[in-house]
Amino acid sequence: MGNISRKRKHAVASAVSNLPLAKNETVELIIEDLSHEGNGVGRYEGYTLFVPGALPGERILAKATKLKKQFGYARLMEIVEVAASRTKPLCPVYRRCGGCTLQHMDYEAQLAFKRKLVEDNLRRIGKIEGVPVHPTLGMKDPWRYRNKAQVPIGEEEGGLIGGFYAQRSHEIIDMEACLIQHEKSDEVVARVKEIASKYGIRAYNEETQQGLLRHVVTKVGFATGQIMIVLITNGDKLPHKEALTQELAQVIPGVASIVQNINTRKTNVIFGDTTRVLWGEEYIYDTIGAVKFAISARSFYQVNPVQTELLYGKALEYAALTGDENVIDAYCGIGTISLFLAQKARQVFGVEIVPDAIEDAKRNARLNDMDNVTFAVGEAETVIPQWYEEGNAADVIVVDPPRKGCDERLLDTIAAMKPERVVYVSCNPATLARDLRILEDGGYRTVEVQPVDMFPHTNHVESVAWLKRI
Ligand code: SAH
Repeated sequence: MGNISRKRKHAVASAVSNLPLAKNETVELIIEDLSHEGNGVGRYEGYTLFVPGALPGERILAKATKLKKQFGYARLMEIVEVAASRTKPLCPVYRRCGGCTLQHMDYEAQLAFKRKLVEDNLRRIGKIEGVPVHPTLGMKDPWRYRNKAQVPIGEEEGGLIGGFYAQRSHEIIDMEACLIQHEKSDEVVARVKEIASKYGIRAYNEETQQGLLRHVVTKVGFATGQIMIVLITNGDKLPHKEALTQELAQVIPGVASIVQNINTRKTNVIFGDTTRVLWGEEYIYDTIGAVKFAISARSFYQVNPVQTELLYGKALEYAALTGDENVIDAYCGIGTISLFLAQKARQVFGVEIVPDAIEDAKRNARLNDMDNVTFAVGEAETVIPQWYEEGNAADVIVVDPPRKGCDERLLDTIAAMKPERVVYVSCNPATLARDLRILEDGGYRTVEVQPVDMFPHTNHVESVAWLKRI
């Protein structure tokens, strides 16, 4: 055993030393492509290097930072020839924050990149050719689109600061504005820093586990203008609680809810288990299209409401409902898609693994007076096969799985249940392509795919695929 592992180590070491460049060496590269993470991709004597911040078409100088057997990473040192798609990032802390990855690329080029990524994955992983992948549906104004911010709080001499963690670290950097957040979020964070500082509230310190205020979470209902402020504290007591909340509610127009969440654990997880209302309501409300949603401190809700309406509108169009259909919505979360579908279907059945999300889904169905939708807690790949065995059928199945895609048991059950149409909403083109291949082999044809830009200036790609039974 010892011998073998020693031999292996030796083999790896010599392979690495056979690379065409050494660590810290600077080489010239032509960037040919962008990786799914948004890094420039270049080849040096056949060896692939990923360069954050570099764009296709650019000739650059890059310094090798990390070299592996098959590929490595390099730092952008100088741009010798600048791509036409390069633009100046609007955000002053773009590099230090790392929350956005594509602000240096013109928005039209971002949209084209996202479409190409879907196409490439379909072809390479799914072996799906000739299927139209439409131009990415982008935003008219791709800024200030997020309705939820989670801001870590720290201290400097003179008071509280809050903003973001410097890339790959836990150092908190103060920030006045995040250009992808709703303006109200900046206002809330500024006021909390100012007023809580005035009342002598200390920030939580991760190292010592002393101090009180850990995070400020803001939520904004775009359609209603309602604002929720969540103060996440290391402990139960919040000094000057009444004065603090009164003042916040007074100075920020639109505040409908101020909530305290208690998290005393030594963890990166933001929320703790206990939540209590300090001022106003437990929920704020928002609408997407004609559907109303109640949002609590803990509930999941799509972060870009404008694009969510487009995405789920597409899903509804592909479902082509006439009012007679039974529809299954797998991975339904708080029922956003289910309620959209229920406007046009006979009956909708939603399945989701998180019990709290199903509670929210049921509340949202009541809020909209919809009685043709039912929700079940469980794994889609367990619950839907059970439904099938009990003799239930579906005319349309919609899936919206997490990044890892659908479980194969679910895809096999869909093929066996033979719904006329399948609508696949995906946040990961690689697993989308893998799963479309399985569905195609199970008797479906992919008609078309529509990418929708839910997260401008980041490398996230959302798309919706329409499949028909053949
Ligand atoms: N359509 C939803 C969001 C879907 S996100 C909405 O718009 O609100 C993916 C969801 O799948 C998450 O809510 C996650 O909790 C759930 N999930 C993850 N694995 C699952 C599984 N095996 N079965 C059912 N749901 C699952």
